[in-house]
Amino acid sequence: MRTPRKTKLDWRADEECQDRAGQEADALVKRLGLTAPIDPLAVATTEHAFLRTGGDDLGDRYDGMLEYAPQKKRFLLYYNTKYDRFLPEGQHHSRTRFSISHELGHYFIERHHCDLVNGEQPHGSSGEFKNASLKEREADAFAANLLLPTHLVNGKLSNGELTLESIERVATDFQASLLCTARGGVRLSDLPCALAGLREGRIAWLFPSKALIEAKIYPGKKTIESPVALACWTAFQGGENDRHQEDGLLRHWFQTFDRDEELYDVEITQSFLPVPVMGTLAVLLTMNEEDVLPQEEEDEEEDEIDRNYRDRFGW
Ligand SMILES: [Zn+2]
Repeated sequence: MRTPRKTKLDWRADEECQDRAGQEADALVKRLGLTAPIDPLAVATTEHAFLRTGGDDLGDRYDGMLEYAPQKKRFLLYYNTKYDRFLPEGQHHSRTRFSISHELGHYFIERHHCDLVNGEQPHGSSGEFKNASLKEREADAFAANLLLPTHLVNGKLSNGELTLESIERVATDFQASLLCTARGGVRLSDLPCALAGLREGRIAWLFPSKALIEAKIYPGKKTIESPVALACWTAFQGGENDRHQEDGLLRHWFQTFDRDEELYDVEITQSFLPVPVMGTLAVLLTMNEEDVLPQEEEDEEEDEIDRNYRDRFGW
């Protein structure tokens, strides 16, 4: 069965909600005058009258949860410290930091906050960018921007083509995970690029840059079609965790509909970034902008002819 075709408009509506959530986090960081690395627990402390936090090793139960206690008129934010086991006392792993930030998203995004106050059941969240529901993706977007605020990261990630090296540098400076940072890089990039996540032998998710959607190149493929990626996935399952780059074909990763023919031979760069703790092989997909820019000139020429006719014949 063919998946329903998601249009440019659908992507925009969906992205706008996530963008707004991210912008709220950016504004919060500015309002509080925070600098990198952001401490999400310190952010929670600024709401101490209405929000309390508590961390514990919760094993595989969940990574984070936000609950409203009506008797006390106060929120409780729980987070799992299982990823902090091997870190010095008081330090938190980038995954713990992300989980706390995700729950802060549910607290600070007004609609999420109100729903919980009005009796919506709390839910346990786990993992970065694993969730399909819009609410969860909004909380993820909030978390990503809280840890990598646009005004602090801009210029460090979005200058020219994204590379694994620049991603790694920013991830270290901001104490964010490589995955979160790579996604932030794609979000801020003016160039057509994307980040894909391979899990359980399939493309589990694919996050596109705005320029990619503008070029009418869309996510939506589930099967790993790139032979190189398939070989890397097999090696990853066998315990290999090397980062490396290889060329591939655009059409193996994206749906291009009307542009299928035009983009058939376009090559892209595939940078493989294994994230064993999540069972995910992330793949950064970058390309030459000139190779994928739509041929707008012809349309403009047609518009010009239309206009001329209109003027002449009074259409
Ligand atoms: Zn959540």
